Amino acid sequence: MAIERGEFPLPDVDDPLVGPFFAAAARGELAITRCAECDRLVWYPASCPVCGAEPIWVAVSGRATLFSWVTVRRPFLPAFADFVPFVTALVALEEDASVRLCTMVPEVDPSVLRADQAMRVVFRPLRFATVPDREVIVPMFVPVESSSNRPPH
Ligand SMILES: [Zn+2]
Repeated sequence: MAIERGEFPLPDVDDPLVGPFFAAAARGELAITRCAECDRLVWYPASCPVCGAEPIWVAVSGRATLFSWVTVRRPFLPAFADFVPFVTALVALEEDASVRLCTMVPEVDPSVLRADQAMRVVFRPLRFATVPDREVIVPMFVPVESSSNRPPH
């Protein structure tokens, strides 16, 4: 079921462009688009910028390094009021470090984060108090060497 306007900022899991990303996350897979002709990973999903061919969705390892991050302390949208403070980040995929995903780093003390540290994907429900009774499973990333890798209890 498509995300309605009032359900923003939940992602639209039926969006033809990025829907497969969220479908894969719901299966516990991190999926990225790969050019069907020249095999480059292409992100954001679109025609290959090098050869112009259409991409196909492939599962990747979920291993990455931390490229950049910031702790958000002020909710710029009411939906994020319950989230702050939270860490949003760019992670560089192991398969191709030029492919960087915008993500969140949950359940982690930001003071432990270091540039280029090893990260791994986890799948967490994204919920907003402003969108009751809806959630979307999304890929997030946590440090590989961290007690915070344990699921919340
Ligand atoms: Zn290509």
